[in-house]
Amino acid sequence: GLKHIHAIAPYVGGRPISEVAREYGLDESKIVKLASNENPLGMPKSAQDAMLKAASDLGRYPDSNGFELKNVLAARLGVPTDWITLGNGSNDILELAARAVAQAGDEVIFSKHAFAVYPLATQAVGAKAVEVPATAIYGHDLPAMLAAIKLSGDKAKLVFVANPNNPTGSYLPAKEIEDFLAAVPPNVVVVLDEAYNEYLSPEQRYDAIAWVKRFPNMILSRSFSKAYGLAGLRIGYGVAQPHLTDLLNRIRQPFNVNSLAQAAAIAAFQDKEFLQQGFELNRAGYIQLTKAFDELGLKYLPSAGNFVLVKVGDDDQAGARINLALLKRGIIVRPVGNYGLPQWLRISIGLPEENAAFIDALKAILA
Ligand code: PMP
Repeated sequence: GLKHIHAIAPYVGGRPISEVAREYGLDESKIVKLASNENPLGMPKSAQDAMLKAASDLGRYPDSNGFELKNVLAARLGVPTDWITLGNGSNDILELAARAVAQAGDEVIFSKHAFAVYPLATQAVGAKAVEVPATAIYGHDLPAMLAAIKLSGDKAKLVFVANPNNPTGSYLPAKEIEDFLAAVPPNVVVVLDEAYNEYLSPEQRYDAIAWVKRFPNMILSRSFSKAYGLAGLRIGYGVAQPHLTDLLNRIRQPFNVNSLAQAAAIAAFQDKEFLQQGFELNRAGYIQLTKAFDELGLKYLPSAGNFVLVKVGDDDQAGARINLALLKRGIIVRPVGNYGLPQWLRISIGLPEENAAFIDALKAILA
């Protein structure tokens, strides 16, 4: 039956600015949205220009195989083009992975407090979602996830690992991931979700492509929504060996990535200046926010991404309560009760003045 579909709790995104303005009687232009881990710089000018050029050709279908974009990606990543799958956002890659390898009777493994699309993609194909307890510091417990795979007998078909993870910002060092990949049985596919990879510090970075080459059961997932500033266009990509890439390509929609997104992604991927500027802005914003949390005596989790999880109270209504008070002041952040974190709020790192507006509002509310 379709019980597994009816059991799905729908994805709840960041509240749109226009909706919040109308609901609370606010001026749209004064609203600060730090709710969806978007790039506070917006989209790069280089990508805007590329889109304007591509816009003259919208009477045609997009290139279904993403020839030009895949070539640019392949050259930089050092893999053949037939190792790449383009997605309508990296969410598309996550969902394709679930559809390609899991069905009713199977298990899909992921961590507690991990990205909300993992249970959604799992439940949509009728598989059983196995949520593994997180570590004491809200990170992925990879040995426990490995144990869950072993415990499943041969039911586990897929495991999602986010590095960094959203909404916790937790980060796994390379050695831990590599040991995990080496220990996972070869019939279980591992999706390494690196939607926030570009925000890692130089010391945190590692060579995930080398793992894709070494492990035939691995899919690397990356996004253009965050560091590349193209969230509204919906584009991401997966990297995996051809036998897996072929499976994903068989079941994706023929034109899943539109022409504007492909053109913009080619430009953004090559725009190193934009990436660097966003990276530095993110570092500064992280310091600005966490300094304010320290001053307010609020606990927060160290984050490797472009957002910070902060604990705003000790009762299970705290997140919702402070969120509502912030909304009334025109600040949109993300409550994370649906992630089992009702005392916390997730704050996307914005421009300095946006961060400051949030901090001022928070201070006033907590005073
Ligand atoms: N993975 C993680 C961990 C995320 O936080 C997000 C965005 N919220 C995604 C994947 C999907 O992003 P997109 O579909 O925009 O590429």
